[in-house]
Amino acid sequence: VQLCVFDEWRIGVRTEAGIADVTDALGFAGDPLDRMRFLIERWQELGERIRHAAAGAPLVPEDAVRFRPPVPRPSKIVAAPVNYRRHQEEMGGESGVYGGVTIGSIDEYGAFLKAPSSLLGAGGKIRLPYLDRRIDHEGEVGVVIGREAHGVAAADALDFVFGYVPLMDITLRGGEDRSFRKSFDTFTPLGPAIVTADEVGDAGELGLQLRVNGELRQDANTRDLIYGVPRLIERISGVMTLLPGDIVATGTPEGVGPIEPGDEVVLTIERVGTLRVGVSGPD
Ligand code: MN
Repeated sequence: VQLCVFDEWRIGVRTEAGIADVTDALGFAGDPLDRMRFLIERWQELGERIRHAAAGAPLVPEDAVRFRPPVPRPSKIVAAPVNYRRHQEEMGGESGVYGGVTIGSIDEYGAFLKAPSSLLGAGGKIRLPYLDRRIDHEGEVGVVIGREAHGVAAADALDFVFGYVPLMDITLRGGEDRSFRKSFDTFTPLGPAIVTADEVGDAGELGLQLRVNGELRQDANTRDLIYGVPRLIERISGVMTLLPGDIVATGTPEGVGPIEPGDEVVLTIERVGTLRVGVSGPD
């Protein structure tokens, strides 16, 4: 199943033919921003009801909705630093320096946090805060956590995954702290939909392509991840408790490059979907 959030934080099941509004089937009267977290937490119980509701709901064409981030308010976004071998080489090797910052792997540096307020829905615009500094695209596979995870072993980690979603980790280059440079509003495009893990299958074999204005910039496969999804969850959950709806950004492959106002950035992940966003300047 593909699940999205659209318009006034409504919950949709995304199909080839359009989006089925299943919000009322949730039976959730709380803050609309928390609907998807509620659904993820209770998926075992609600999944069948949602599938059934979707089958009977009228379909809204995709170009008639405004996509929101499919988890609008996660407790956290945890992101892997350099996690593809060739990107490690491009960033200067195992102990390289890039954009004034020393680059290390997950072994050394662990993961970092991005502000949840940096999320942007599919079809939105990344807002560049400066025109005189380099700001790069990073296309990544996003993992959506399904169950509270603390101290999870890699062998069990996939039981804690709800699904996958295309994610961009937009990055201002420079000397500020990494979390700060990556947490501007709109710097984490996510969506259009979460694809449940059962439909994605092996997340260790997913093709990933990112294009800017049609030009192929990043082209990789998750089989080249240094830390695959299970080890990443083990490493992160050994430090912090992951909650349902939390997002793990798995790291970007080689080919990162700058974006400019007016660009169209398109990330496609095999069996997960295509995330398309625009780029604007400071005003
Ligand atoms: Mn990244």
